[in-house]
Amino acid sequence: MSADPTSRDTNSSASEAQATVDTLRWKKFPVLDDGFVCLVDVMGNDSSVVQAARVSYGDGTRKVSDDRTLIRYLLRHRHTTPFEMAEIKFLVRVPMDCWRQWVRHRTANINEYSTRYSLAIDASQTTEATDWRTQAESNRQGSGDPLPADVGERLTAEERQLQDGIRDVYQRRIESGVAREQARKDLPLSTYTEAYWKVDLHNLLHFLALRMDSHAQLEIRQYATTIGEQIVRPLFPVVWEAFLDYRMNSMSLTGPDTGVVQRLSSAAATAPPWSEEAFLAAQDPAWADLTRCRERDECRSKLQRMGLME
Ligand SMILES: Cc1cc2nc3c(=O)[nH]c(=O)nc-3n(C[C@H](O)[C@H](O)[C@H](O)COP(=O)(O)OP(=O)(O)OC[C@H]3O[C@@H](n4cnc5c(N)ncnc54)[C@H](O)[C@@H]3O)c2cc1C
Repeated sequence: MSADPTSRDTNSSASEAQATVDTLRWKKFPVLDDGFVCLVDVMGNDSSVVQAARVSYGDGTRKVSDDRTLIRYLLRHRHTTPFEMAEIKFLVRVPMDCWRQWVRHRTANINEYSTRYSLAIDASQTTEATDWRTQAESNRQGSGDPLPADVGERLTAEERQLQDGIRDVYQRRIESGVAREQARKDLPLSTYTEAYWKVDLHNLLHFLALRMDSHAQLEIRQYATTIGEQIVRPLFPVVWEAFLDYRMNSMSLTGPDTGVVQRLSSAAATAPPWSEEAFLAAQDPAWADLTRCRERDECRSKLQRMGLME
């Protein structure tokens, strides 16, 4: 791939990129029971990032780094503006509770279906009996294990009753002449909405990094994962590879983490994997008096992930 718009390489990769766009446009990728994400339009591809970067670095960089290396360098070092040169527009259908989290990402442009102007979409996200989750014990924001099937069946039946009942009330309000903007006020957060969502690649990657992460709620994670894997990966294969390597599958060691590793390597009598006892002896002094310490837990998890702790 080359940044030179007249080169044969650029032309052939541009036509390949266009073929990918043509295959993806308006294809609805299903999410949850009745939602979807769909590519409406895209401006740019991997080459757009490279082209923009070469403006700032000049032609000299072409001799020392190919396009893939350059994209990976930019992403690794958070040189972000070249990624803002590509824009992607989606059409999404999302339950409102999930949408509420989605719209917190302020760096996108949104145009949403209006339930003042039109009747509310007659679809609510439903939960299978096996999909109810317990409250997580370790994370106050998260979910734990699935609930037993018999409990799930009751919850699903109650959910259906609630959603049908509220939909009937809404319908009766409309039939009684109530304005749509007022009739909607008691619709549940499970009601689907639709919106155009346009965002540049840099901010899309930021959204994906936060919402594909295991700390994000399962429902929005499914949307983010679908957008990432089904749409961003084929449109921007080199950027996607770098994103996985330097964001999703990477980890950062904080100053206190680095101190723990340094103390463990210099003080521990044995080679890794180190024991919990050795870890506690080497922990950051500020954690030592705390019974519960999230930062210590995160540090332990990182060492375990690297095979440095049992
Ligand atoms: C797992 C998880 C849990 C969360 N829990 C909560 C919660 O309990 N309560 C809650 O309210 N929110 C919660 N959020 C939402 C979170 O705080 C952010 O609002 C959301 O993730 C959007 O992130 P952002 O601001 O970085 O994104 P964007 O709005 O897209 O902004 C991208 C970046 O642009 C910059 N930026 C954008 N707008 C401004 C601005 N006005 N001023 C300065 N810089 C700006 C910032 O650098 C920002 O990081 C949670 C998010 C996640 C992923």
